[in-house]
Amino acid sequence: MSELAYPYEAPASQALFDRAAAVTPGGVNSPVRAFRAVGGTPRFMVSGTGPYLTDADGREYVDLVCSWGPMILGHSHPEVIAAVQDAVSRGTSFGTPGEGEVALAEEMTARVAPLEQVRLVSSGTEATMSAIRLARGFTQRTKVFKFAGCYHGHVDSLLAAAGSGVATFALPDTPGVTGAQAGDTIVLPYNDLDAVREAFRAHPGEIACVITEASPGNMGVVPPAEGFNQGLKDICSENGALYVSDEVMTGFRTSRAGWFGVDGVVPDLMTFGKVMGGGFPAAAFGGRADVMAHLAPAGPVYQAGTLSGNPVATAAGLAQLRLLDDAAYAKVDAVSKEIQGLVTGALTKEGVAHRLQTASNMFSVFFTDRPVRNYEDAKTQESFRFTAFFHSLLADGVYLPPSSFESWFVSTAHDERAVQRIADALPAAARAAAEATA
Ligand code: PLP
Repeated sequence: MSELAYPYEAPASQALFDRAAAVTPGGVNSPVRAFRAVGGTPRFMVSGTGPYLTDADGREYVDLVCSWGPMILGHSHPEVIAAVQDAVSRGTSFGTPGEGEVALAEEMTARVAPLEQVRLVSSGTEATMSAIRLARGFTQRTKVFKFAGCYHGHVDSLLAAAGSGVATFALPDTPGVTGAQAGDTIVLPYNDLDAVREAFRAHPGEIACVITEASPGNMGVVPPAEGFNQGLKDICSENGALYVSDEVMTGFRTSRAGWFGVDGVVPDLMTFGKVMGGGFPAAAFGGRADVMAHLAPAGPVYQAGTLSGNPVATAAGLAQLRLLDDAAYAKVDAVSKEIQGLVTGALTKEGVAHRLQTASNMFSVFFTDRPVRNYEDAKTQESFRFTAFFHSLLADGVYLPPSSFESWFVSTAHDERAVQRIADALPAAARAAAEATA
């Protein structure tokens, strides 16, 4: 889609984007935000309240991105804001241990049974990077299996066949990652246990860990097939490798115990981010106490962070998690189902071939008539229909992720009025998808 298809629709955002492009590569601080997959002007947001975002032109949108997952209570939740204000009033960073970190770790370990010990960090990328290092240090092995289409942040060794922004831009690889870094990563097709077994046979005694998204959301939503995660865990155990479940996206979102709360498969190590930070940079990795005991200063595997366990971030995360009781998850699940029904109803009415795929309250739409079980399937979708669908919704005040390779997210704040606005915008968007041409 050429940029001319959407001219001058957001002049204040466009002016900011022009300013940004002069001082920041591509005008953004994370690639998918630049709208390159869909064209047009990225919206520069100035505020968020409940299910709504307001952009620099003063237009309000129903937000179906929720900051890519974290804002599960909606924007500016009063109790989260109060906890942040209280923390800020006492100082913003001490570089020492503090009670907030302990309380957040206690809340997390109480919710997620396999999480016996946890180490706080500042981003999901740092969490997966550290978990891989620990797995290598613990097993004294070097190689890692990952799955095509699973994104684990921009860790050098994990930027092979990754989803998310890498999928959006169809980068086969990235310059700057050395052959040595990528060479220890072996990429396997998702949802294929035979491929995993075969790969273990080909690399006896070499595999430190298998890392997988607990339920992938970075190639669009592609949940694990029945028995896939348990199979992975069993194969890892048989081969002396660790099973690392990346719950950065699913953690504390897909249930009060994340995806572990859905499938009950016990990982050796887990990674978290997004929801646990309440909209602040907080993330974590953790799991088996005997493995975590290898981490400095308890053990030899080094890992550290100036802002790890930051008091403001931990206050926000703790406040958010404490508000996430069973009633909150029931609400998010219910509103997600309602929106899913509206989306698929509108597309069906216009005769648009599509697959709506879900993982608890996470969902996304693939413009294809075939089930999507892995990254190869995901890439066969008619993304040009998504582009038309996206821009129609954007014009009508509904903000979707600007890529067909991303999950959509909702919150407890998505109330009847917000859902009605989505319902009102969908017929035209479905028509636009139906009429789109490649
Ligand atoms: N792992 C998963 C499953 C993710 O979805 C993401 C980010 O989207 C990451 C890791 C990286 O997290 P961050 O962006 O906080 O570095």
